Amino acid sequence: MCKVIVIGNQKGGVGKTTTTSNLGIGLAKKGKKVLLIDADAQGSLTASLGFQEPDKLDVSLATIMANIINEEDMEPDYGILKHDEGVDLMPGNIELSGLEVSLVNVMSRELVLRTYIEQQKERYDYILIDCMPSLGMITINAFASADGILIPVQAAYLPVKGLEQLIKTIGKVKRQINPKLEIEGILLTMVDNRTNYAKDISALVVENYGSKVRIFENSIPMSVRAAEISAEGVSIYEHDPNGKVASAYQSLTEEVLADE
Ligand code: ATP
Ligand code: MG
Repeated sequence: MCKVIVIGNQKGGVGKTTTTSNLGIGLAKKGKKVLLIDADAQGSLTASLGFQEPDKLDVSLATIMANIINEEDMEPDYGILKHDEGVDLMPGNIELSGLEVSLVNVMSRELVLRTYIEQQKERYDYILIDCMPSLGMITINAFASADGILIPVQAAYLPVKGLEQLIKTIGKVKRQINPKLEIEGILLTMVDNRTNYAKDISALVVENYGSKVRIFENSIPMSVRAAEISAEGVSIYEHDPNGKVASAYQSLTEEVLADE
């Protein structure tokens, strides 16, 4: 059985992309077949996995979605890139912006990505989708395709308001389009354990959401080593294998696997 997890939060810079790649590669290291999907026009996931110029790729998620809209047949592995650390990648790039605009006039516009994912499910154990920092139509497509949503929250700012809106949107998608959608959990990222402020924010998230939503036991610490990997094209397990961020993503991987 394939599980589809969306990494989403309309707040920018909270660790969505870093979490998608390092959770995905963590799962691959545990022997799982993993497809990562870059559903962000910024192409950060694609670039951070070493495909430095996403906008120059011939085939990306926008091509795939356009083909689905036009009912064109594709080979299952069409456009999928391979990363050395054992994950597959459906890259994303700037063309997603144009596609998002054109979706407005498409029949079943919320379900285009789901059609692709349904085709991929038999080939993978996990499909992780990295969302852009918005709740636009591409993100709704991702929510409509998912079993669960993992919400990274940066522990350095008061996230409460943005989270309300996100949880509301998730509820709406669940009621109207995708009844099986669940919130996988909130993941605290960039936690600086030396400051009381980070502890306060963590406590506040637990207090406000702990009864409704799982808060992952493992949070991701702040570290420059994590900030360096996007330029290296490798995971934190390669870049700083003995560091605290590698160990945190390893533990998160185990927490996700424990749900199986
Ligand atoms: P966007 O909303 O723009 O897509 P995002 O939510 O995907 O952003 P990331 O790109 O993963 O967030 O992270 C934002 C920045 O913080 C990046 O420069 C990244 O390298 C850095 N970063 C991520 N995780 C950590 C960490 N644990 N410690 C320090 N820096 C981090
Ligand atoms: Mg990102």
